[in-house]
Amino acid sequence: MEKQDQILMKKQNKTYVLELIKNMAPISRMQISKNTKMSPTSITRIVGELQEQGFVKETKLVTSGVGRKATLLDVCGDVLFTIGVELDKAVLKIGIVNYVGGMIDLQTYVRNPLESYEETVQNINDKVKNIIEQNAIPVGKIIGLAVGLPGSIDYENGIVRVAEQLRWKDVHLVRDLSKLTSLNVVIDNELKMKIIAENTVGKAKDSKSSILVGIGSGIGSAILLNGEVHRGESNNAGEIGHTVIDPNGNVCSCGKFGCLCTYISEGAILADAKKMKDISSIDEVFVAFRDGESWALNILDRTATYIALAISNLACLYEPECIILSGNLIDKMPEMKQQIEEKCERYMWEPIKKNLHIVHSSLGSQGVVLGAAIQAQNSLFDIN
Ligand SMILES: [Zn+2]
Repeated sequence: MEKQDQILMKKQNKTYVLELIKNMAPISRMQISKNTKMSPTSITRIVGELQEQGFVKETKLVTSGVGRKATLLDVCGDVLFTIGVELDKAVLKIGIVNYVGGMIDLQTYVRNPLESYEETVQNINDKVKNIIEQNAIPVGKIIGLAVGLPGSIDYENGIVRVAEQLRWKDVHLVRDLSKLTSLNVVIDNELKMKIIAENTVGKAKDSKSSILVGIGSGIGSAILLNGEVHRGESNNAGEIGHTVIDPNGNVCSCGKFGCLCTYISEGAILADAKKMKDISSIDEVFVAFRDGESWALNILDRTATYIALAISNLACLYEPECIILSGNLIDKMPEMKQQIEEKCERYMWEPIKKNLHIVHSSLGSQGVVLGAAIQAQNSLFDIN
């Protein structure tokens, strides 16, 4: 038993040192020793092992304060890779991400919304094999794959409980996809994947409490509390699309009336716009808005109001330091941010308002893929 404990502790120390180099590189052995409070001898041994395994490399010599030379260390980005997948009603995106969160390649495909579950799983497998081959990544360096998708996801058991957009119910995505790809597979709700990307490399980097709001074909949010994704009892925390804002309102696909998503999804905006003008796409609404057509100004003004109300409610519940706006609507219409902020100014409770920052995600359309790949690394990486 004692031997087991020692092995475990060695592994923990090694992981800790590697994480430190990853976060603080370039860094010297002396600095690592100071930060970890481990002896210089132990650090030299651990770093040696990490170099041997290919995780760490020496970069350059620097002169430290008293004229002594110190060699700096950095991690090797290409020591391992993960695959991130974003699946939506009409789009399939696949990306390869390296150990330090760098996107090596990102490929986007149109998905037929009528495609069956089996066809989609087969499609993901084919595209994953393609991207690995095209980038000449040795399969042994790929530690796993993760999929981010909209809906209620039982991420612990690898089951998609409900994904209305994909018309899936209780499908064993992890089991089926790992069988086909021979890779370890992780799945989660797309916004929960996205906030992991924001927390690792984006606008909420190292934040302990932030909320990501996604506005596009639906509306939802992901909540980061104490540095962890807040999941709730069955991983549905943050699904604000089905908060009821008018019990006598529009009928929702969930069967209730007046859900938020019936007011501020792309479909809802387009349906309202069609009452005013003969148009066929959400992009035409944005063009009309920029041309100053009053019906488009009114519809998007009302949309901004509903988004501001949702944000104000979230802020009152969780008091985050930052709210990140993301998704197709805000990516295509960045000027909406100012409108939303003005409305928040009006609706948000003063004590909460003064500390809150509202920002636009900088990850654009690759946020889910990147977050999924990072999550795959977080859950599947084992230093041995
Ligand atoms: Zn609903």
